[in-house]
Amino acid sequence: MTMTQPIRTSVAGPTGVRRLFAAPAPDLASHLAAFGPMPAAFDEGHLIAELDDSGLTGRGGAAFPTWRKLIAAAESVPSKRGPAVVIANGAEGEPLSRKDATLLRSAPHLVLDGLLLAAATIRAGDVVLYAPASSFEPVARAIAERPDAGRVRLVAARDTFLSGEASAVVSAVGGGPAIPRDHPARLTDAGLRGAPTLVQNVETLAHVALLARFGATWFRQAGTPDDPGTRLVSLSGDLPVPAVFEVPGGVPLADALGAAGASVDGLRAVLVGGYHGAWVPASALSTRLSMQELAPFGATPGAGILMALGTHRCGLDAAAEIAAYLAGQSARQCGPCANGLPRLADVLRRLAARDRAEWLPGEVDRLARLVAGRGSCHHPDGTSRMVLSALTVFADDVREHLAGRCVVTS
Ligand code: SF4
Repeated sequence: MTMTQPIRTSVAGPTGVRRLFAAPAPDLASHLAAFGPMPAAFDEGHLIAELDDSGLTGRGGAAFPTWRKLIAAAESVPSKRGPAVVIANGAEGEPLSRKDATLLRSAPHLVLDGLLLAAATIRAGDVVLYAPASSFEPVARAIAERPDAGRVRLVAARDTFLSGEASAVVSAVGGGPAIPRDHPARLTDAGLRGAPTLVQNVETLAHVALLARFGATWFRQAGTPDDPGTRLVSLSGDLPVPAVFEVPGGVPLADALGAAGASVDGLRAVLVGGYHGAWVPASALSTRLSMQELAPFGATPGAGILMALGTHRCGLDAAAEIAAYLAGQSARQCGPCANGLPRLADVLRRLAARDRAEWLPGEVDRLARLVAGRGSCHHPDGTSRMVLSALTVFADDVREHLAGRCVVTS
């Protein structure tokens, strides 16, 4: 069997970029007809070797090598802390992300294939799919069709920015609040109820299901050597066709945006990686969506989020709006979130509102650097990254605002 479309819920576009439609989920028979059955018997060592060879990294944002996480959980299983737990994480607290919800609607069987395979690999005693309740209907229907999925528990994720952070996921699945927790031990050593816990993004699990069928060589037919395979991206902002697309690894930003109908001429910048990401100016949209090429901008592919900012939009306004949202989303457990982020958001708001106090840009810079690296989770770091990159990419706006003008209106 040859498979050339990694996730065949989409249609081919002109650049090898494919749009993922939130079409009704295929039933089990259609799913098996599209992808074929999972291998009847598989060797765990072989699967982990294929994952290693494939170069698959987590698609939830952290880009951790998938095989390493799987083997860490598998090796913790003989502990005395109870059987392992595997959690498929479909919580997209990030307001700009739609890919996981779209995938769960359009290919729930593929996610379940990967989840059950991960569960078998680490000998999990508890198998959970954690996602917003709005994604449950197609997943529950898929579970009901499969005799092997009866033990999958659905746990509803809250619609908050931090609900998908791994330690927040474990807390929420355990009945606690969906907020990040201090976790000196790795979750793969001691997670839910102290048991080894593998938290894996749902898109990553879909790729695992395909790799088990078709192998690492097939996976690497798409993408680049440094960023193999495909990834789902959520395109939003000032675009004619905001949607979820499947793109090859390392696709130029302009090509991905072009699939959504964007012309580079109509854009000022793109926020890459979501609200915790960084801005890339329109002059650099030939940059590839890869770790290496995005590094000079302080960005990463993250969870595949691209938000376009049109030439009619003020960059400082956009950044201030996001910073205010992020300041309101922290759990306020740590100093940088309780005090630093609200102050940072307020000073940036004044700059965006063309308050002409000369000290404002320096204070935004100082506060952004002050909060970074001081929280229990990466929320202050991500907020700092987005704000600092706004000061760089929108330096013209800063100058104009201090003069009481704005580049998009003056
Ligand atoms: S850094 Fe902020 S979001 Fe993270 S745990 Fe502390 S208070 Fe919560």
